[in-house]
Amino acid sequence: MSTIRVAIDGPSGAGKSTLARAAAAALGFLYVDTGAIYRTVGLSAREEDVDPGDETAMAAMLPALRVELRYDKAGRQRMLLNGRDVSEEIRLPEISRYASAVSALPAVRAYLMETQRELARKNSVVMDGRDIGSVVLPDAEVKIFLTASARVRAERRCRELEERGTPQPFEEVFRDIEDRDFRDTHREAAPLRQADGAVLLDTSALDFQQSLEALLSIIRERTGL
Ligand code: C5P
Repeated sequence: MSTIRVAIDGPSGAGKSTLARAAAAALGFLYVDTGAIYRTVGLSAREEDVDPGDETAMAAMLPALRVELRYDKAGRQRMLLNGRDVSEEIRLPEISRYASAVSALPAVRAYLMETQRELARKNSVVMDGRDIGSVVLPDAEVKIFLTASARVRAERRCRELEERGTPQPFEEVFRDIEDRDFRDTHREAAPLRQADGAVLLDTSALDFQQSLEALLSIIRERTGL
């Protein structure tokens, strides 16, 4: 039986991962957070003391790198770097910047492409990222561009960081989001954009439950599930 692929793209802090995870659970699909994969490569650059913007140095590092996805008993995605669970470490704000820098390199994107496609060949997935509907799974049955205003996204991220016990001032988080938006949309390799055929879902004025309902109704409408 062929798998069903739901591609969700959008800027950072739009609530993609929380919503995509909840939608996947409701549908019985595998949730794949591709940002976590880029974060793991970013963490590795920092640990190896490699300049994340230096494509030659990064390309030299990739073949020795073991980046693996695992799912724990609760179905949560875990990231392993050379066999070590780094799922918590990759969430540090500093690693966001490394992830954004390494993800601009075509060599890194090409290296991670097959990992992502293989997951979608073997499982029905809800996969979230920046270029899933445009590059990784251009034939996805459902494509959604999930967004919210930069201010709303910064407020949400602040709450999340606080809950994690690593609070940061709003202005810093806001600036970080704007910088990352700029880099993600202006880079040459797979810039963030609404893919052809993607449905736009703006959650600025919606709470979590309303966003999830909107997301599921788009998916159900497109797949007949
Ligand atoms: O989604 P998250 O913030 O965890 O992603 C971390 C970084 O990885 C983002 O800044 C983005 O530049 C990059 N990324 C990407 N392509 C993806 C997923 C994430 O370039 N499919």
